[in-house]
Amino acid sequence: MADLAFSLELSDDQKELQKWLHEFAAEVIRPAAHEWDEREETPWPIIQEAAKAGIYSLDFMASQWFDDSGLGMVIAQEELFWGDAGIGLAIMGTGLAAAAVSANGTNEQIGEFVPAMYGTPDDIKLGSFCSSEPDAGSDVGAMKTRAIWDEAAGEWVLNGTKTWATNGGIADWHVIVASVDPSLATRGQASFVVPPGTKGLSQGQKFKKHGIRASHTAEVVLDDVRLPGKYLLGGKEKLDDRLNRAREGLKTGRSQPSMATFERTRPTVGAQAVGIARAAYEVALEYAKQREQFGRPIIENQGIAFKLADMKTRIDASRLLVWRAAWMARQGKEFTAAEGSQCKLFAGETAVWVTEQAIQVLGGNGYTREYPVERMHRDAKIYTIFEGTSEIQRLVIARAISGTYIR
Ligand SMILES: Cc1cc2nc3c(=O)[nH]c(=O)nc-3n(C[C@H](O)[C@H](O)[C@H](O)COP(=O)(O)OP(=O)(O)OC[C@H]3O[C@@H](n4cnc5c(N)ncnc54)[C@H](O)[C@@H]3O)c2cc1C
Repeated sequence: MADLAFSLELSDDQKELQKWLHEFAAEVIRPAAHEWDEREETPWPIIQEAAKAGIYSLDFMASQWFDDSGLGMVIAQEELFWGDAGIGLAIMGTGLAAAAVSANGTNEQIGEFVPAMYGTPDDIKLGSFCSSEPDAGSDVGAMKTRAIWDEAAGEWVLNGTKTWATNGGIADWHVIVASVDPSLATRGQASFVVPPGTKGLSQGQKFKKHGIRASHTAEVVLDDVRLPGKYLLGGKEKLDDRLNRAREGLKTGRSQPSMATFERTRPTVGAQAVGIARAAYEVALEYAKQREQFGRPIIENQGIAFKLADMKTRIDASRLLVWRAAWMARQGKEFTAAEGSQCKLFAGETAVWVTEQAIQVLGGNGYTREYPVERMHRDAKIYTIFEGTSEIQRLVIARAISGTYIR
């Protein structure tokens, strides 16, 4: 693909997309945010509305992913998560499973599984990406879920327990990362698609969470799950070839399945954090203009105004890092300094910091559920934990810039 000239000016189409999604977020998502946070349930009616509007659909997701500039998807994420992060994740959770199929599947597999994960506006479906395990969070190589090829039956047999899976157990389609050869750690892993109604897959514990409570998070238990060969992403021949090369100690030329998924999704996760931070900043700015103490609006004090200036500056810096990484990914530029990790790290920590400052600006009101900033603060915290913790992002960046295997 030819390089696009550098510009920070959005195209008319991108501005239109931003405006449309902002309206949906303001009119449909934001008004429902408090209710679904309190209910701690998947907001099916809102996902349905998103599907009817054409947002929860493969067409929409694909056109944003394949926007030439790379910015379509990050613009979309920022607006939806500006509306609410829990509902945003309920709408976007399927995307992680779809990205895993797109990153690791053959063209036939992508064509068959990805549209089925979204369903239709009248019959919506969900996808779930299951990599983490109780003893394998940051340390993906410690994964215990096993996939064994049953030669006689011509089927894969999966056993193990996944945890923290977004949409886990309630999804129609699950993408499971499993170890085929544990002696090869991450290089011995492969991704499998488990279609709806497969025997042996069940939901374990559903987690009660600090934030993003409209997004369902649960364990997924795999008990002798049998899958025909076509559900191994990439196919057996390719896997055998990769395993053989790994056994011979040669470079496979490809990162392990989970990492391939995370690389593609990091700027989008950073954009979600930008959306939350911007939402809290806007509430704080308005409040500071209205609230009077000592006979004047509190914004007239540098102590408050400087806080807002810092909030705005860090949010804009986060967005620029997100846009850079998204643009680089789409142009096929090599991430020489872990630019994807940089944007996720900075945007995630900014969202936590900005939402906390917003509570401070709102004082006692900020600490109550009468105002949205305490929810936004709870929601923001996940961004220093999932899709690679802040410490792991720093490790990735430090290794990239130093060329040293830092632990
Ligand atoms: C709400 C939610 C949704 C999620 N959704 C999904 C999902 O859809 N699919 C999925 O597969 N997973 C999902 N996850 C899992 C998430 O990616 C993991 O929680 C995350 O990778 C961290 O793993 P862990 O929780 O086991 O923490 P641990 O790995 O145990 O880490 C604990 C602490 O130790 C630090 N640490 C660990 N190793 C190092 C090191 N080498 N150097 C420095 N510090 C280190 C970590 O940074 C962290 O601070 C989700 C988690 C949550 C909470």
